[in-house]
Amino acid sequence: MGTTIKCIGILTSGGDAPGMNAAIRAVTRSAIYNGLQVKGIYRGYRGLVTGEIKEFKSQNVSNIIQLGGTILKTARCEEFMTVEGRQLAYENMRAEGIDALVVIGGDGSLTGARIFAQEFDVPCIGLPGTIDNDLFGTDTTIGYDTALNTILDAVDKIRDTATSHERLFFVEVMGRDAGFLALNGAIASGAEAAIIPEYSTEVDQLQEFIKNGFRKSKNSSIVIVAESEKTGGAMHYAERVRNEYPQYDVRVTILGHLQRGGSPTAHDRILASRLGAAAIDAIMEGQRNVMIGIEHDEVVYVPFTKAIKNDKPINKELMNVLRELSI
Ligand code: ADP
Repeated sequence: MGTTIKCIGILTSGGDAPGMNAAIRAVTRSAIYNGLQVKGIYRGYRGLVTGEIKEFKSQNVSNIIQLGGTILKTARCEEFMTVEGRQLAYENMRAEGIDALVVIGGDGSLTGARIFAQEFDVPCIGLPGTIDNDLFGTDTTIGYDTALNTILDAVDKIRDTATSHERLFFVEVMGRDAGFLALNGAIASGAEAAIIPEYSTEVDQLQEFIKNGFRKSKNSSIVIVAESEKTGGAMHYAERVRNEYPQYDVRVTILGHLQRGGSPTAHDRILASRLGAAAIDAIMEGQRNVMIGIEHDEVVYVPFTKAIKNDKPINKELMNVLRELSI
């Protein structure tokens, strides 16, 4: 205890993720419960640079737990990448009486928070908000479970048409350079294979898939491909099949931004609520410059440097599960 923090600022930054609103609600309510004042900062770091800041009461976050997107809006802010931009942000923060920041976002947003905290000695707490699940130090990130469920819903529908036409479908999902959505999406939707960046330098995943004899017992197949320069994406694999295995009738579906939307699942709402409340506990305990995560059902504090620098490992045994179950 013994903190001098009286007012916190909260912002969402980078790519939006379902559950960010549940996190905003949790941070706001938990702060007010603990006697802190709360200010909402709009459009990520841009709102901090331009001074788009508004006081938040409990009612400002009523009725938002079920909403996708972020009521605070989000943006990418080039100015915050410069010292001058961050200086402006700091001045606005002081003028508003904000003593500490809670930043909800992905890798880039937490990198910005780390640099800002270091330069201006500002306490910053990060919450992992990204559908990609690519932050080290937390079992899952806010938005990942909802996106995974959106993928299932889409793949279930694609399977109907794939089966009827006896086609091979490549379905591209998000994840940047992480294969969590692709691999777990494939297992959960009963797809025949997943092509993930973590594996792309080790083997030719297309050849492996074909070699496994996917047509022995099936006339249609679905392969989930993670979007990534490392895999080349679904189009690249469809093109390869057309050239190398012209006997297959191949189609591509790119799920795109629909994976970012929708009402958050129970898992994401509970995760966001726990992380939001824990962010305020951390501030009250005098913690600074950490990301809050949940590992093995326990709240953990992860230093920004660790959360950002370390790659979250993917469990490659899941590839074996997928292979075994798709015979
Ligand atoms: P995400 O948080 O989803 O990974 P981005 O990588 O786009 O999204 O980052 C969001 C914002 O965080 C950027 O627009 C920028 O304002 C800030 N940011 C990212 N990297 C840095 C950096 N190295 N220095 C300062 N700010 C950064």
